[in-house]
Amino acid sequence: MTGERADTRTLWLESAACRGLTFWLYENVFDDEGNVRDGVALRSALCYCDNCPVIDECEDTVTEQERGKPLEDRFGVCAGMTPHERWVADGSPVSDLESLED
Ligand code: SF4
Repeated sequence: MTGERADTRTLWLESAACRGLTFWLYENVFDDEGNVRDGVALRSALCYCDNCPVIDECEDTVTEQERGKPLEDRFGVCAGMTPHERWVADGSPVSDLESLED
């Protein structure tokens, strides 16, 4: 029974536009400091997300998984957003942003 529930919760992944491309296209876009390493890969990743039939499910999942996490603990492009965009959308305090700019 538990296995059936887990399968249902992740079934949307079967329809993901990025299926099989996760590391190459989504996690390797940024360097270790979160800067864009490959602008072409970033635009490609965002294009996949724009055309993904499960972007809403993806956003719900990544929002739940990353809620409250600092920027440095967010990786890759998800739901059409960079780590920084997801961090801002999460309502991170401005003081966190100011500390990054120091
Ligand atoms: S929205 Fe983007 S990251 Fe999320 S499953 Fe679709 S293609 Fe992958």
